[in-house]
Amino acid sequence: MGKHLVLIGGGHAHMTALLNIDQLTSRGHQVTLVSPSPNHYYSGMGPGLLGGFYAPSQVRFHVGTMAEERGAKFVQDTAVKVDPRGKTIHLKSGRSISYDVASFNTGSDVQLTPLVNGTDNVIPVKPVLNLYKARTTLLQEVESRDLELIVIGGGPAGVEISANLWRLLRGKPHQTTITLVAGGELLRNTPERVRTLARKSLLDKRIRLLTGGRAEKIENGIVTLSDRSCLDYDFAFLATGITPSALFRDSALPIGADGGLLVNNFLQCTEFPDLFGGGDCISHKDCPLAKVGVYAVRQNPVLFHNLAAKLEDTPLRPFDPGPPYMLILNMGDSRGILWKRSLTLNGRLSFLLKDYIDRRFMKKYQVSGELTDPSPEA
Ligand SMILES: Cc1cc2nc3c(=O)[nH]c(=O)nc-3n(C[C@H](O)[C@H](O)[C@H](O)COP(=O)(O)OP(=O)(O)OC[C@H]3O[C@@H](n4cnc5c(N)ncnc54)[C@H](O)[C@@H]3O)c2cc1C
Repeated sequence: MGKHLVLIGGGHAHMTALLNIDQLTSRGHQVTLVSPSPNHYYSGMGPGLLGGFYAPSQVRFHVGTMAEERGAKFVQDTAVKVDPRGKTIHLKSGRSISYDVASFNTGSDVQLTPLVNGTDNVIPVKPVLNLYKARTTLLQEVESRDLELIVIGGGPAGVEISANLWRLLRGKPHQTTITLVAGGELLRNTPERVRTLARKSLLDKRIRLLTGGRAEKIENGIVTLSDRSCLDYDFAFLATGITPSALFRDSALPIGADGGLLVNNFLQCTEFPDLFGGGDCISHKDCPLAKVGVYAVRQNPVLFHNLAAKLEDTPLRPFDPGPPYMLILNMGDSRGILWKRSLTLNGRLSFLLKDYIDRRFMKKYQVSGELTDPSPEA
């Protein structure tokens, strides 16, 4: 007898499942996708969206249409609670959906509390659509006044956002000052050579780099640093790291140290075998993984296989995280900084490689929907 698979979140790790829904429906199963938006934006191209390398239509997947075209039901809503014993997902709208098998790809958010008091002109770098909205706002604002921009967070996202703000606002009638508050060493998880290259690239763009103090409070246009100094801002971008949503904690599901759904080798919840997950929202019991899109992408085939296997009562397959991933930073000037193992490459070729990889990923899964750019709300 057919079963009901519910996919919660149409993120990067669910792409293969979404693309192959018809393989499940043709066997008599029912599939439902729950997502707050019919579109999902590819984070790897987010900084390029801000800087103007890409239009929104080039970086979004039409997950709602993708699901419906393949025979699934699309529910535009947000999961707020899971009842694993009653096998029910509760949604923000008040509706609920029952499942036989459910899979989570609900990603992660930038935590605002306790750092931010009031959200006026504070822009978390996720969801990625924030970056496009910021682009539109900043282009309008810089027509009439000088701008003070602060980026908080010295990881890859903070570096790419700073560099792409430079790209967006250079050569405009009014001046923009960009300050990156790294809160410690810039790109601390990378080798010295990568850090040196990134530092040079940012300083060449006249981006002010603060590596000493951490931001302690963001309030009313002022960032207060741990050394008590204050910085004024017109807009502050928050790239302070990401954590899975509170969905799993609120549902009393097993979670890892980072709050993600605790899963085993099969991307399966350690306590409730009908629940699976992928991407930033999960926490691997045996091998904690960095919250990077690369792992969400690598999980795709195994997650799809295991969801189909669970529906059909056939053996599950283990997930192998694979070799160390490659990091390529988009430095806003059509140059990239590439790092993999002991290899570091700086320049145009690195950017072209990133662009090629990202476009190839989009092409594979951007199979439905219109390619125009209606509104930044979409
Ligand atoms: C600026 C920036 C640049 C980055 N660049 C790179 C890069 O170049 N390479 C790389 O590997 N990583 C990069 N990352 C990391 C990357 O963002 C994440 O690792 C990646 O987005 C994880 O994918 P995901 O599908 O798990 O989550 P997400 O991309 O966050 O997708 C989650 C989806 O679930 C939906 N959702 C959320 N909550 C619910 C809910 N309760 N119910 C239903 N649906 C829900 C969301 O709307 C969204 O569509 C970058 C991050 C940032 C911020």
